[in-house]
Amino acid sequence: MDNYLYELDGKVYLNITNQCSNRCEFCIRTNSDMLVGYNMRLKKEPSFEDMRAAVAAYGKPLKEAVFCGYGEPTYCMDTLTRTGAYLRSLGVRVRLNTNGQGRLINDRDIVPELVGAVDEVSVSLNEAERAAYQSLCHPRFGMFTHDEILDFAKDCKAAGLSVRFSVVDTIPNESIRRCRKIASQLGVPLIVRRHVSDNESYT
Ligand code: SF4
Repeated sequence: MDNYLYELDGKVYLNITNQCSNRCEFCIRTNSDMLVGYNMRLKKEPSFEDMRAAVAAYGKPLKEAVFCGYGEPTYCMDTLTRTGAYLRSLGVRVRLNTNGQGRLINDRDIVPELVGAVDEVSVSLNEAERAAYQSLCHPRFGMFTHDEILDFAKDCKAAGLSVRFSVVDTIPNESIRRCRKIASQLGVPLIVRRHVSDNESYT
């Protein structure tokens, strides 16, 4: 059975797709299909009804839920927005972890659709400039993807969503410093995530 919902470090995460527009060098999907005991490979992308059933089957009260998983959640906007709105109606705080390419993926402005569906958007910035991002994340949309990621974060913030950037701690310190500068210029907080190399212990 597909794992649409999983627990990690005491938090609940939602796994709605295995599609992604990047091939990041540090992606944990390249290590294994397994993550802390869950098989993250999906036989079928879930509908909203599948997600509602997964939440009901979880059976414990939810405070926070994060769209993350083994893929880029904005590939499945219908499931994302309907599930997010449903969870929020139950008083759950909802975060979207994204590579920031949802408008390129969907070929439309998805920011208005996120308003009401999520509380917070965490955008993987990963590098401070185009060429370095290209080398690290290999986005299918090419060299100007990094520009769009910054614009997407800016527009999410302008739409009233809580926004943060993340980078992985394996990039050079100088890149982290420059990412902090970009984030500060946009008035967006930045977190430095530790790189995970062991999928089972999540360390
Ligand atoms: S954006 Fe996320 S899911 Fe996609 S390749 Fe990078 S780390 Fe993996």
